[in-house]
Amino acid sequence: MFDNLSGKLQKVFKHLRGQGKLTEENIQEALREVRLALLEADVHYKVARDFVKGIAERAVGREVMQSLTPGQQVIKIVNDALTDLMGGSAEPLRLAGKPPLAVMLVGLQGSGKTTTAGKLALRLSRDKRRPCLVPVDVYRPAAIDQLKTLAGQLGLPVYPSKTDQRPEDIAREALAFASREGCDTLLVDTAGRLHVDDELMAELERLKKILSPAEILLVADAMTGQDAVQVASSFNERLGVSGVVLTKLDGDARGGAALSIRAVTGCPIKFVGVGEKLDALEVFHPDRMSSRILGMGDVLTIVEKAQEAFDERQAAEMARKFKEDTFSLEDFRDQLRQIKKLGSLEQILEMLPGMGAMKELKKMQVDEKELVRTEAIINSMTRQERLNAEILNASRKRRIAAGSGTSVQEVNRLIKSYNEARRMMRQMMGGGVTRKKPKKRR
Ligand code: GDP
Repeated sequence: MFDNLSGKLQKVFKHLRGQGKLTEENIQEALREVRLALLEADVHYKVARDFVKGIAERAVGREVMQSLTPGQQVIKIVNDALTDLMGGSAEPLRLAGKPPLAVMLVGLQGSGKTTTAGKLALRLSRDKRRPCLVPVDVYRPAAIDQLKTLAGQLGLPVYPSKTDQRPEDIAREALAFASREGCDTLLVDTAGRLHVDDELMAELERLKKILSPAEILLVADAMTGQDAVQVASSFNERLGVSGVVLTKLDGDARGGAALSIRAVTGCPIKFVGVGEKLDALEVFHPDRMSSRILGMGDVLTIVEKAQEAFDERQAAEMARKFKEDTFSLEDFRDQLRQIKKLGSLEQILEMLPGMGAMKELKKMQVDEKELVRTEAIINSMTRQERLNAEILNASRKRRIAAGSGTSVQEVNRLIKSYNEARRMMRQMMGGGVTRKKPKKRR
């Protein structure tokens, strides 16, 4: 995400940092390049113009130019300005009030509304709310089915909309349905069209009246750049949008929509979609995003992801097992599952400071299939084998390899890394445990 812009800005600043002293000309030259980089990133031209003007006013002062680290100072100013441009601080969902509360998801077809409804449902249930899903797109049976499938995966209630119902009737009945099911939040997946049209807007207005939603979230596809900004403006003028969810940021190398939507429409970006999976939704933090763009990393998001994925009780349990040397292949598998929950390794690499700029690392293929294969191997073992890896002889290994569709070499490699992990943990725990094999368990 933001690859091109990020690369260009970092180049400009590297040059600036290299200069001991800055003249007004140096800065103006750098700002010209910043403006070009923004335009190439498909940032709205007025936004780019005002942005650079604002920086120039702050940077071309005596304080910055005479400081010992003028380059750094300019970068800080740009960082602050980028943060402001994207809205300053994160905007949470406003879900205060008497339940059930409705959240309407609106936007064009294919923007990612249905997927986002599922992602939000997962996030809300993790936050201890009880959401239900409400498909209102009666024009596309497939959209209703898609939402029902998602609800099934999440184990959440879904209002059983039918294609011969009127959207307004669905909305009314869904409110009663939510109360009956004990749900506090309705995630309403509305119909989309290929273009903004009057009929659709009128329908959304009627739904808004019936639902009195706590939030109207516009779902927009980041990859469509300025079109996404246009769409956000139109929906906001007609309907009043309380927040934007910018999807497909994972595939957006330019970042124009993310940078201009707030400035052009005044609507805050509340979430960004960074993948197709249900957990690929992040709260949009303008400061962290700015820091990512400038190659300074986003360590806070990594820490939060880790906290979400690893629960403390499990971590303490693992530590105890390491200490007592009873860490089995079954535990090894649980850990792999937790690591997978962190999201794609490539996404994590992107958040590390300086990594975004390292092209070689980008090219490195992180083999996530390897994790899947490892899990398959462990799944093909009997429970007894998982608890006592030392009984794995040649014939057992052959059986496991065949069962998991892998090879004996791969099984051996896995056992080797498991033993290695145990050995390292024993050293880290330092508890003087010298036993070579895990304690037998029944
Ligand atoms: P809708 O017509 O607005 O309901 O759009 P869908 O939810 O059906 O999404 C359209 C396509 O975009 C699907 O293939 C989704 O998997 C994909 N999609 C949605 N959000 C994201 C995202 O954040 N990243 C990526 N890479 N794909 C997404």
